[in-house]
Amino acid sequence: MKLINENGLRVDGRRPDELRKLRLEVGVLEKTDGSAYVELGGTRIYAGVIGPREAHPKHLELPDRAVINCRYHMASFSVDERKPLGMTRREVELSKVLREALETVVFLEEFPRMMIDIFVEVIQADGGTRTAGITAASLALADAGVPMADLISAVAVGKVEGTLVLDINELEDKYGEADMPVAMAPNLNSIVLLQLNGRMTADEISKGLEMAQTAIKQIHQTQVEALKRRYKVEPEGLET
Ligand code: UDP
Repeated sequence: MKLINENGLRVDGRRPDELRKLRLEVGVLEKTDGSAYVELGGTRIYAGVIGPREAHPKHLELPDRAVINCRYHMASFSVDERKPLGMTRREVELSKVLREALETVVFLEEFPRMMIDIFVEVIQADGGTRTAGITAASLALADAGVPMADLISAVAVGKVEGTLVLDINELEDKYGEADMPVAMAPNLNSIVLLQLNGRMTADEISKGLEMAQTAIKQIHQTQVEALKRRYKVEPEGLET
């Protein structure tokens, strides 16, 4: 399968450094304390946050800080080959990876003996679900009013037919040479998740990181705008 055409464009017509169409919404679920929806090309994800709440079961509470629980889950219908019901090994691992990325910015010590539940539900998968899931979960945490040092933003870069590409889709993930998900707290300039599947040279890794960083700033800006849309207060008495 040809992943880069003679004009240097990708299977979905994008340039190598082009992000897919990104849509972010905050406060989309009524039965959570905070929620968000992300659409990145064909990838669609809901994130819901419950808490901070009293820890249950009690024996899992910590005396000096909150505990974050995170569940990354793919709907059975979200992928081409029906995903088995229940949590797969991959989902258990990704739940941990997402939690570790997100909890780096949460002021956990402000909520001793409490719990925060984060649910990430992949409704449709087209590559980059762990990174889009982190972006959505971070917004859902903000929507729940959880104090954080920064919003986490994430994207995956990859290598296909020798070319570094931003925001890989499922085909590029499947048939490409490498896939490198990156999550950052951009205002703190810190990387909170970095994985690499496949093979890249050290030079490609640093170029890929730069590419990811530029896109992450853009995603971060879109997150801030989504929060502003949700919380914008119209001045009273003014005609619109
Ligand atoms: N995928 C799939 N079935 C699965 C897991 C993944 O079809 O059980 C697809 C899905 O489109 C996903 C992509 O493969 O987005 C890449 O999966 P990966 O494990 O690399 O994680 P992701 O890129 O979604 O973070």
